[in-house]
Amino acid sequence: MKTGALESKMRAMTMMDRSRTGTMMVATGSLTVVTGSMFSGKTEELIRRVRRALYARRRVQVFKHALETRPDDLEEIRSHDGNPYEAVPVSSSGELLERVRPDTDLVAIEEAQFFDDGILEACESLADAGYEVIATGLDMDFRGEPFGRMPALLSVADEIVKLRAICAVCGREASRSQRLIDGVPAPASAPTILVGAQESYEARCRHHHEVPR
Ligand SMILES: [Zn+2]
Repeated sequence: MKTGALESKMRAMTMMDRSRTGTMMVATGSLTVVTGSMFSGKTEELIRRVRRALYARRRVQVFKHALETRPDDLEEIRSHDGNPYEAVPVSSSGELLERVRPDTDLVAIEEAQFFDDGILEACESLADAGYEVIATGLDMDFRGEPFGRMPALLSVADEIVKLRAICAVCGREASRSQRLIDGVPAPASAPTILVGAQESYEARCRHHHEVPR
């Protein structure tokens, strides 16, 4: 049933457009990628866009990766005046596609960098089928290297919003996520999960981002 919703969405759009124009189908889908470092306001930007869609009475579905293991203190501020949605956790890009309903207008995907390689095709096929897709995610990991499928998503996006945070050291614009273990910069070789160590993150500019090799 992976493509069931997509096919019925296509059918519905074809009928709608034909009844309107009497001719061929006009696609309306698009892919927007909202990216940047930690604490750069990606979630706030997504909330803003979802709220606008809801005002316009458009139907919205928001998904996030089920294996998101971000500690609570890394959560970006969800919103000042109430989050208008609850993201549905999915464990793969295939499950995401299965759960998209044909009558949905806007499909939002949080933490896209955590998804499997299929997230690229999933976003593309949803946009091709007429959905407005907004994917948010980190463009770089703590080493400052491209994160998962994000580089590919950025390449095929119709619109890119790249946000920056504030450097915790100098107060200038920050594009990197600094990982700290017991208060010192984590080496590039550090394991993803450390037992018994105090781990934290902060935003840093290119100049103050440290990754001991
Ligand atoms: Zn700095």
